[in-house]
Amino acid sequence: MKDITILGAGIAGMGAAFHLKKEGSQPEIYEKRSRPGGHTSSHAVEGGFIYDEGPHVSFTKTERIQELFAESVEDQYEVIQVYANNYWKGHWIKHPAICNLHGLPDDLVVDIIKDVAELQHEETKDEYDNFADWLIASYGKTFSETFPFEYNQKYHTTHPKNLSTDWLGPRLYKASFEEVVRGALSPVTKDVHYVDHFRYPTHGGFESYLAMFKKDVAFHLEHEMVRLEPKDKKLHFSNGTSLDYKQLVSSLPLPEIIKRIDGVPEEVREAASKLACSICVCVSVGIDRSDISQAQWSYFYDEEISFARTSMPHLLSPKTGPEGTGSIQCEVYFSEKYKPLNKSLEEIEKDVLRDLRKCNLVREDDTILCVDTRLLPYANVIFDLDRVKSLETVHAYLDELDIHCCGRFGEWGYHWTDESFISGENAAEKALSRL
Ligand SMILES: Cc1cc2nc3c(=O)[nH]c(=O)nc-3n(C[C@H](O)[C@H](O)[C@H](O)COP(=O)(O)OP(=O)(O)OC[C@H]3O[C@@H](n4cnc5c(N)ncnc54)[C@H](O)[C@@H]3O)c2cc1C
Repeated sequence: MKDITILGAGIAGMGAAFHLKKEGSQPEIYEKRSRPGGHTSSHAVEGGFIYDEGPHVSFTKTERIQELFAESVEDQYEVIQVYANNYWKGHWIKHPAICNLHGLPDDLVVDIIKDVAELQHEETKDEYDNFADWLIASYGKTFSETFPFEYNQKYHTTHPKNLSTDWLGPRLYKASFEEVVRGALSPVTKDVHYVDHFRYPTHGGFESYLAMFKKDVAFHLEHEMVRLEPKDKKLHFSNGTSLDYKQLVSSLPLPEIIKRIDGVPEEVREAASKLACSICVCVSVGIDRSDISQAQWSYFYDEEISFARTSMPHLLSPKTGPEGTGSIQCEVYFSEKYKPLNKSLEEIEKDVLRDLRKCNLVREDDTILCVDTRLLPYANVIFDLDRVKSLETVHAYLDELDIHCCGRFGEWGYHWTDESFISGENAAEKALSRL
């Protein structure tokens, strides 16, 4: 019998363990994979390259987490000024596109400016029915249809009219009319990205930030929880072992834990089935050249380009690959609810290599040194219009069973690593208070 058991050894599970250690317990985590880290794992692959599971950088403003991360890497981290850009029909546009229209076709720029000028006379509302309405009210119809509608279809796998606005926060920049006009007239604009700099470990990829959270924690790896008996508070694992618990902290994706619990009421099962999340196929390509791009990450709007976003691991730390080489990591999105994975990983890899050449990130004379393709079955929570209500139903049910959900997929939110960690700490605190 364990008082508190933690499921999932990602950064949320580690946050929970960190809190329990502080409170004098010896935390134990049960994890299905053969290594701890979850989405914050870094993988050393052929040719001496290191790849994270999608681009992972730390831009936490919480000093305590900054210090913990720094301690983990013994202060060896890079501090990098953000430079992001966009690709649209052969044009490279500084981010955010609305403030950097210079060089785009005249008719498009004129139509966007006309729309934005008209918006100046309209009242903004406090709430919008959906994300598409918010976009049109913020940027006008022409810009919205040309850029964010296209991007969101690729990244969230559904039209913005199916999305809510409760995830936006500072993510999308609201430009003034003057900023839009100045950006159309001049190629030089001020930086207005919502994050201006970030930190990244010098050695070993993002996972190095977890070093101190792994200390004094008992990890039970290759323990996939396959069945939970709620009445007896018993967990069963794929390797045949089982365990009783009093309180459970779970960072498992909500649809996964619900599937595994005996006797879940129909309305809870139905609510869980409505929770939408994207699937990411992450294709990382190492080449014999580092002058690929200045942008640490780029957004791709064109439907015919398979990936929604690229990032450059060697610009986060040059130690992520051999000297003189560079890497491009590409994210291609699907989702069970809106755009089921309809291709093999080999086909997706081929599409990505074709498209990298199309937009000249990989040139004909480049030598490809490695290609690493990974499937992330849970990537980004899709904030569709079913989310809030379904989530309330699922969380209320799990809470009654003394299951305290945490992390990106337990809270079912847009959590960054620092938020997932803190969410784990909070769940552990709640579990302790229930003992
Ligand atoms: C493409 C991408 C880019 C991102 N970029 C950034 C970034 O730049 N900066 C940032 O701060 N954050 C970023 N994030 C977010 C970050 O990855 C998450 O906040 C964080 O990793 C979530 O941690 P977690 O512990 O909640 O979930 P996870 O890491 O998913 O951990 C859950 C764990 O549960 C395990 N598990 C699942 N099912 C079972 C089972 N049945 N039994 C036992 N174990 C199980 C899994 O194997 C996993 O290890 C990004 C995410 C993605 C997808």
